[in-house]
Amino acid sequence: MLKIDNLHANVDGKAILKGINLEVKAGEVHAIMGPNGAGKSTMASVVAGKEEYDVSKGTIELNKEDISELAPEERAHAGVFMSFQYPVEIPGVTVTNFIKTAINESRKAQGLEEMPAKDMLKKIREKSELLAIDRKFLSRSLNEGFSGGEKKRNEIFQMAMLEPKLAILDETDSGLDIDALRIVANGVNKLRSKDNAVVVITHYQRLLEYIVPDFVHVLHDGKIVKTGDASLALELEEKGYDWIKELV
Ligand code: ADP
Ligand code: MG
Ligand code: MG
Repeated sequence: MLKIDNLHANVDGKAILKGINLEVKAGEVHAIMGPNGAGKSTMASVVAGKEEYDVSKGTIELNKEDISELAPEERAHAGVFMSFQYPVEIPGVTVTNFIKTAINESRKAQGLEEMPAKDMLKKIREKSELLAIDRKFLSRSLNEGFSGGEKKRNEIFQMAMLEPKLAILDETDSGLDIDALRIVANGVNKLRSKDNAVVVITHYQRLLEYIVPDFVHVLHDGKIVKTGDASLALELEEKGYDWIKELV
């Protein structure tokens, strides 16, 4: 699904990612952990194609296709979904209308017709039921006055509707309360399947009490310095990150 090979990236001429290697197969959930400033969000942004990052070396492949030269929208259309740490408010545009537009834009970019209204409604109904999202929420203005949990609910709903091949959820700095964490975790657990892959980025182990990852990677100073199974997250929670820094 995702193959990152020797990825180096700079911001403002400063090296941030210093040779990342990561392979994520369909059906897997990977967690990326690591101390603040390690480069976790940068890695997510580079995979999603954010333009302020300059990839100086390495490749990013999605299903064997090199996506490292594609624009962010093209990557989204290829099946990459990334959560937003700072979601935009769009007054007057409802949660439902936003996702309808996003889906139809994506179809248009792929040369497909708009999704028939009947199918769209059916899909909205199915996904909102799956995620226990009520109707009232769907007709609210996008992100306007949303609580942390509601922002997460919207994000997970978008993910459910778009059915990405690869979802990258950056849950690092956002001071999520336990409700919001549960919403994300339930969403990921309901949406994970043999055909998609999820990369969850988190500073804290707590999220991984609810989402049990297949692999945990520790990022430090722009490199993955340790990989393990879910028990590595517990070990990090117990021992902190200092011992990781000494591995380098
Ligand atoms: P993490 O998510 O692991 O906490 P980040 O990827 O946010 O780490 O940041 C890694 C390093 O890159 C930090 O030193 C940060 O200051 C720097 N950095 C990230 N994004 C930018 C940016 N847009 N402009 C300048 N520096 C940045
Ligand atoms: Mg940070
Ligand atoms: Mg971050």
